[in-house]
Amino acid sequence: MAGRTVVVKVGTSSITDDRGRIVDAAVAKLCSEVAEVLAGGDHVVVVTSGAIAAGLQVLELTRPSDPAVLQAVAAVGQSRLMGHYERAFASVGLVAGQVLLAPLDFVDRAQYLHARQTLRLLMGLGTVPVVNENDAVADDEIRFGDNDRLAALVAHLVQAELLVLLTDAAGLLTADPRYDQEASLIEEVSEVDQVLAMAGGPGSARGSGGMASKLAAAKIAAWSGVRVVIASAERPRVLQEAVVGTPGVGTFVRPRDGRRLPARKLWIAFALATAGKVVVDAGAKRALIERGVSLLPAGVRQVVGDFQAEDAVELAGPDGDVFAKGIARHGAKELAQWSGWQSSRLPDDVPPEVVHRDDLVILP
Ligand code: GLU
Repeated sequence: MAGRTVVVKVGTSSITDDRGRIVDAAVAKLCSEVAEVLAGGDHVVVVTSGAIAAGLQVLELTRPSDPAVLQAVAAVGQSRLMGHYERAFASVGLVAGQVLLAPLDFVDRAQYLHARQTLRLLMGLGTVPVVNENDAVADDEIRFGDNDRLAALVAHLVQAELLVLLTDAAGLLTADPRYDQEASLIEEVSEVDQVLAMAGGPGSARGSGGMASKLAAAKIAAWSGVRVVIASAERPRVLQEAVVGTPGVGTFVRPRDGRRLPARKLWIAFALATAGKVVVDAGAKRALIERGVSLLPAGVRQVVGDFQAEDAVELAGPDGDVFAKGIARHGAKELAQWSGWQSSRLPDDVPPEVVHRDDLVILP
């Protein structure tokens, strides 16, 4: 495919009014900007929230706190949300294709490749993929951040050059503008970690994102070699300006130099919630970091938490410092029993890896 690929993410608060209703004008603004970028020869994937908001509107509910109810509400709202996009894209001569993704789609190789193929084909057909989390079966982004991380993983999936995170602020500011009139836009961030501490808590009551969630997404993107712009959804021509890199359009986050993490490892490192911790000895820590080996029971000193096989766990050194994250192949109970054991002592049908090298990421 010729042209650049751009992923643009819009959150609930940017496309709803203060009563939580989807605002057609806001969807139309985004869609007409997408049309212009496409006319310039680039490709665009839209990642949008708003299913819950649309569902609440139909069901005449206020946002419940129970994630299970939110999942059901999202199922009601998703098709309505798509209706808004279909109409807005039709008015600029475009066709939308809905793609719903769940966290497991980034972990399972076959599913990951299918999702990539579908997204590429949709773009190849001249349509605009419109992605949301498959809230009915997975509620990760409901809990953690209104699709920000999903958008970063999608950017990696389609090998995008640029991820545009649209929000209700002008970008990352030097201070909270509600309390400090001097707050000004930070135009470029080269090390996300340094600014993560500055960002406040969750955003508005209608979405669940906020700047910390944007930066967490920017970090995933930076580790995948994708440039990020955090900018205001309301700014005229924001998408076109983000694509050409107009100074002042928002906050640019520079991609990290060096090796790009594969998607599965990105997901393990930055998106999967951890269920426990495995403390390893100094020798194991060194071997994991320097030689990229799998963790075996012999190196395990202590097991913390009550995780199951296939749960994500943190790995800490003898000093307690967390240095890696991975997916455990055994539950905490079995592992506690086997810690310090040579692999030859394990029952015959038990795979020796506590965390396999393919499921292990050394953290920055
Ligand atoms: N995927 C959800 C939606 O589209 C996330 C937004 C939220 O948590 O409010 O509504």
